[in-house]
Amino acid sequence: MSSINRRTAILQMSALASAVLLTDSLGAAESSATQTAAAAPAPTGPFTLPPLPYAYDALEPSFDAETMHLHHDKHHQTYVNNLNIAVAAHPELAGKTVEELVANLSTWFEPARTAVRNQGGGHANHSFWWTTLGKGGTAPTGELAKAIDSRFGSFSSFQDKLTAAALGVFGSGWAWLVKLPDGTVDLASTPNQDSPLTLGHKPVLAVDVWEHAYYLKYQNRRAEYVKAYFHVVNWDYVSGQFAQKTNA
Ligand code: MN
Repeated sequence: MSSINRRTAILQMSALASAVLLTDSLGAAESSATQTAAAAPAPTGPFTLPPLPYAYDALEPSFDAETMHLHHDKHHQTYVNNLNIAVAAHPELAGKTVEELVANLSTWFEPARTAVRNQGGGHANHSFWWTTLGKGGTAPTGELAKAIDSRFGSFSSFQDKLTAAALGVFGSGWAWLVKLPDGTVDLASTPNQDSPLTLGHKPVLAVDVWEHAYYLKYQNRRAEYVKAYFHVVNWDYVSGQFAQKTNA
């Protein structure tokens, strides 16, 4: 390697190290800080990846096991890891649940705020989402069924409208059914990893429409993926949670 090529390579590595740190929400670091951060072991807490409440292949054929492995073990884990790095870098974030962090987003100064928004949102959104999936029932029941009928006219109409919301997300994001402070339900969508909790809304259902959620099996066919989603909603669990949740 010539000295010029070596210098170029070193500069590229330096740029890469800075980019990784930015991703980890530590901000633009001086080279000395870069070396310190690189040498320090990655924090393993306070947040940890919750295990899936079912087997990786439990949602086949709608959601394939390989996607579930990547989505949970890699993508969700990365949000957890980066959130832990952010908490280590910003002591004001310590001692809070991830839901408290994202619900109080405006409390945090930058760059902690962006870290909570993206990494905290990613952890909170996925942690919630896994619990709503499964194979319990085929339609909402009880209070949730009443709330959906009241707002959308019928379960079928609700499915059409949630599908439209999911297909309407430009780029990466989520479609939601949320519970409003008055106890009624409505649709919402959020870009990237923004959480309804930040807007004061309680998530009831979620559809992850990031490509990482479906590209392996469905490629660009988001509509097929959303149709399949309705086969893997744990309606019994979601209906039970809706009935229990307070409006606080
Ligand atoms: Mn996801």
